Amino acid sequence: MKVVTVIGARPQFIKSAPVSKAFLDSGIQEITVHTGQHYDDNMSAVFFEEMGLPKPSYRLTSGGLSRAEMIEKIQSELVPILQKEAPDYVLVYGDTNSTLAGARAAKSLDMSLVHVEAGLRSFNLEMPEEHNRIETDQLSDILFTPTEEAVRNLQKEGFDTKNYQIHTIGDVMYDALLTFQARALWHESLGRESFFDRDFGLATVHRFENVSDPNKLRVLVEELNAIHENEIPLWMPLHPSTAKRLKEFKIDLNIHLGPPVGYLQMLWLLQKCKIVLTDSGGLQKEAYFSKKSCVTLRDQTEWVELVDRGVNKLHHIGRSNLVHLIQELLNATHDFSWKGYGEGNAAEKISATLLGR
Ligand code: UDP
Repeated sequence: MKVVTVIGARPQFIKSAPVSKAFLDSGIQEITVHTGQHYDDNMSAVFFEEMGLPKPSYRLTSGGLSRAEMIEKIQSELVPILQKEAPDYVLVYGDTNSTLAGARAAKSLDMSLVHVEAGLRSFNLEMPEEHNRIETDQLSDILFTPTEEAVRNLQKEGFDTKNYQIHTIGDVMYDALLTFQARALWHESLGRESFFDRDFGLATVHRFENVSDPNKLRVLVEELNAIHENEIPLWMPLHPSTAKRLKEFKIDLNIHLGPPVGYLQMLWLLQKCKIVLTDSGGLQKEAYFSKKSCVTLRDQTEWVELVDRGVNKLHHIGRSNLVHLIQELLNATHDFSWKGYGEGNAAEKISATLLGR
């Protein structure tokens, strides 16, 4: 059996690690296409090195393009690759432009499409990711959902079992974390190791909805600066898009900043920190897996189970009180025993399902 996997953004490299391993172990031939959506070494190469990902057979260039240009370019460059490789399945992850471009290319050739992390919804159509998710799900033949909630989302949208195969397998990010957490480590790029002996909050910000509007970004930065100054020191690996916007809008983020870090450093930071503040999708779950509470710097989350369990609180930037949210989370006792993201064997379930086992 042959699978062409399309990846291109940081979270996809991480999600693909356990799945590529499961494919290798079960004899599935995997051809990887790297779309080039993320291309800096610390947004791409570091994950291939640290996590031992298979070297991509094809490497496209698409970084820095607008959303429309990026999707169109990746799609048109994928078509001849897919024709040449003639795989049994084309596999895409998550909700990025690379995901949608891969889905469109596969379906334009009437190939079987597999979507890992299907059924997630924020119900916010202003997010490009929401468009990517909905269309990719609609184009997919096999939808692997991380949770039962994701299945309910699909059912509400009319996905039926006649036209779609829907399998709830758990979350491949949990597989990745379990595989790599013993190798979590500090790296000199993080700065002094002793800094992290104190209580600190791990913060990340990169979502288009938060960084593209100067007024919103300014309010968010003021809130983070105040938390850092008065409540708990914050440490942030700065995403390149956020760095670019801060510079462009001349906004000063006065917290501890570093470059984007590798996955092993991220796991180390997750183990060390007291609380997570993020607009990342993946990091909300990794906070939970690491038994840390989390403030989500957005109006909605796709990971509603965590909000329902009180371990994750949504912060409406400029409208809710971030100090109160953080104090509430830090003072509460949390229950991290819920196992709704699976047993850490989602990747094996993907390979077994594709092989018809
Ligand atoms: N991550 C990382 N280094 C960083 C920031 C994030 O390794 O400097 C990891 C993080 O642990 C998670 C993934 O990247 O596994 C999340 O990616 P991102 O926040 O870019 O995307 P999202 O999950 O929001 O789609």
